[in-house]
Amino acid sequence: MNIPKIQSVRGMNDILPDEAEFWDRFDETIRSWLKSYGYRPIRLPIVEPTPLFKRAIGEVTDIVEKEMYSFVDSLNGESLTLRPEGTAGCVRAVIQHNLMAQQPQRLYYVGQMFRHERPQKGRYRQFHQVGVEALGFPGPDIDAEHILMGARLWDDLGLDGIVLQLNTLGQPAERACHRAELITYFEQHSALLDEDSRRRLHSNPLRILDSKNPALQEVVRGAPQLIDHLGAESLAHFEGVQQVLRDAGQPFAINPRLVRGLDYYNLTVFEWVTDRLGAQGTVCAGGRYDGLVQQLGGKPAPACGFAMGVERLIALIREAGGEVKAAPVDVYVVHQGEAASRLAARVAEGLRDRAIDVLFHCGGGGFKAQMKKADASGASFAVIIGDDEAQAGEVTLKALRQTGEQSNEQRRVVVDGVADEIMSSILDWDEA
Ligand code: ATP
Ligand code: MG
Repeated sequence: MNIPKIQSVRGMNDILPDEAEFWDRFDETIRSWLKSYGYRPIRLPIVEPTPLFKRAIGEVTDIVEKEMYSFVDSLNGESLTLRPEGTAGCVRAVIQHNLMAQQPQRLYYVGQMFRHERPQKGRYRQFHQVGVEALGFPGPDIDAEHILMGARLWDDLGLDGIVLQLNTLGQPAERACHRAELITYFEQHSALLDEDSRRRLHSNPLRILDSKNPALQEVVRGAPQLIDHLGAESLAHFEGVQQVLRDAGQPFAINPRLVRGLDYYNLTVFEWVTDRLGAQGTVCAGGRYDGLVQQLGGKPAPACGFAMGVERLIALIREAGGEVKAAPVDVYVVHQGEAASRLAARVAEGLRDRAIDVLFHCGGGGFKAQMKKADASGASFAVIIGDDEAQAGEVTLKALRQTGEQSNEQRRVVVDGVADEIMSSILDWDEA
């Protein structure tokens, strides 16, 4: 009988152990980096009511128009969506649990996001983001904190060549003014627009500025600029962010065409970009979203945040030569015979009590075959227990790591002494 295999969903990747160990290490770096800035974790559902994303991200955005995995809950007819990003759910949770009643919040989350995109390098249908949100902070100081956090993380991860692009989107009233001018301009040049842009002309003309179509670049370059419509307050906020960056010695490039694909942003927006990942070079993006809390039914509160694409960052770390293999276990326990196996199980647990990592041989087989597995495991020691050892209440301890004279050394040790013996050998090796 030939049973067909079931494959993973296109664009949704398995992360196999070699890779997953790398991800674990990355998570550790991320969590200690976030802790060093006083950010606290929040864990949010992967599924949210569809209207949350429509209202937060905006109806006329790529994400809501064509990238969401939405489905109807057959039990009650409710439309649900696999989260395409984390900010909307985070803000919903903050409002729902009244988290800002006492004080502003600095929060972060790590997890899967889902977008129905065309899969390619750096672009998947299930991907992971680290998201950082600060709610209740009005000033440019927090925008700058978020940007400088990025710089420190690239340093912690040993990455260079990630450059900062900065822009301001002003306030809604200023954007409305700019928008009217943009529509007039693009109407005058509508022959040069592609289908997507013509469709967006009256719904979301700002997004035309972000078009990746090379044919549009020239007409976009000549378009009216928002900065000419900004009032004193918006300009001061933007200047405030830049001041902190300059004080910190953080270089940046102002990119007036940086608009972001989500409608909730205002004032500061930024992206961290590398040229080492091909077309998908944005590893981190964010900005201010002062209107969102109110828009989702909360008491008005200023806020800002950013999200990093984990797959892209990990690809970058790999590309920079950051291949990290997790340390193998310390001990492989080899055993044969009934009494020996029972003793071996106790020895293994005893070693783990002393924080020694142990692989316990399972599945039977002779000593020779088991020793091969012990060697292949990368363990530093084999603890070998046969009838002979069991009767004497001893184990045979064999060094598997090649360490000069000591190599392949093998000796008998009483059961109670084996943990100490292993610990002191490890210390000797570390000193050598
Ligand atoms: P892009 O312009 O690359 O489509 P975006 O503006 O849609 O990005 P955001 O919603 O700002 O992306 O998400 C923040 C980060 O998450 C991106 O900078 C990127 O690193 C990562 N990201 C976004 N979409 C994907 C995806 N489909 N696959 C992998 N990573 C992604
Ligand atoms: Mg996108």
